[in-house]
Amino acid sequence: MDQFDTTHDELRVGGLPLSLLAERVGQTPFYAYDRSLIAARVAGVRQVLPQGVLLHYAIKANPMPALVGFMRPLVDGMDVASAGELKLALDAGADPQTIGFAGPGKRDAELRQAVAAGVLLHVESARELEALAASAQALGRPARVALRINPDFELRGAGMHMGGGPKPFGIDAEQVPAMLRAMARDGLAFEGFHIYPGSQNLRGNVIAESLHRSVELVQRLAHDAPAPVRYVNLGGGWGIPYVAGERRLELPPVADALAQVQAALGRALPEAQMVLELGRYLVGEAGIYVARVIDRKVSRGQVFLVTDGGMHQHLAASGNFGQVIRRNYPVVIGNRLQAAERESATVVGPLCTPLDVLAERMELAVAQPGDLVVVLQSGAYGATASPQAFLGHPPCAEVLV
Ligand SMILES: *Cc1c(COP(=O)(O)O)cnc(C)c1O
Repeated sequence: MDQFDTTHDELRVGGLPLSLLAERVGQTPFYAYDRSLIAARVAGVRQVLPQGVLLHYAIKANPMPALVGFMRPLVDGMDVASAGELKLALDAGADPQTIGFAGPGKRDAELRQAVAAGVLLHVESARELEALAASAQALGRPARVALRINPDFELRGAGMHMGGGPKPFGIDAEQVPAMLRAMARDGLAFEGFHIYPGSQNLRGNVIAESLHRSVELVQRLAHDAPAPVRYVNLGGGWGIPYVAGERRLELPPVADALAQVQAALGRALPEAQMVLELGRYLVGEAGIYVARVIDRKVSRGQVFLVTDGGMHQHLAASGNFGQVIRRNYPVVIGNRLQAAERESATVVGPLCTPLDVLAERMELAVAQPGDLVVVLQSGAYGATASPQAFLGHPPCAEVLV
């Protein structure tokens, strides 16, 4: 099982009934992440990865230190997007050889830290190359470089586009040959390419197409490479369903495409190691956000459950993290899953803004103050992707169970 089971009377997290876990945590709101669900999900991904394709964890999806430590032996490497995440990965014991550092706007000091650590830099601009050459010289250590490419194609159907057309991410594919020549001149240690076309993709055929087109592009660009291509990071972008009616990603087309592109890559670039980097797909469904009902009000016929948690701790569930139209995440009353008495209720937080909504007119078990509202699918882009200082409420807790 790699997602929460909602068929009991009370939700269980890591084998504990939710209300007991809340007592153990000693406060609400909190996020809880279930180790066994994470491990099961990683095992499921391994089943569709061809032998020899490496799996990395993108820390930004959930950087809780204990979770990163738990993930470390389960995956083959970590992807970081700041010096702070680099520290997390190293503290968790990740081998610097297996850490990739991507992201626009890497500061000179961060680049220097990364060279000192010996991690692979996913370079996103000409300026970064220059700064890296300077750091490598100052430290007397090679700067390990992969070029992040902004591909010359865009994926239809990806939830969030990160490549194709004008983008702040990566180097436009047409500029890559000139960059490769500059690298040869500056003595940087070229290792390969990174392509990340988009995130939150729920369609297996779109991911399959992305893999095929990315590998074609890598093969074209490899002609100008100053050294054999040893590293090909094809991104990931596997999505999870967040709202009712969204279909789960179907893995068979992805598995087929992975096997095909790995074979093609093996023929064209025999030294290349293929890497996938996944964030939300590994941890998103293994986490919940739990808030306690403080008040129950009826306003002109509509039931409002006012909780101690809200958008300041779970921006995405409130619909304010990039969503165009607000749609409800899956929400349940975690200590009354099977209650017969149900009603339409709107769950709001304690903030003085109409944006602070966790669920709008949802069919829920009838709840009273003290009951526990649970937002499912909350293991990624939660606590650290929310404006927790807004309105001065206390921070939420996070536990790995
Ligand atoms: C954000 C990001 C990821 C992780 O994205 P998910 O949608 O959580 O899988 C992976 N790689 C890069 C380069 C990213 O920016």
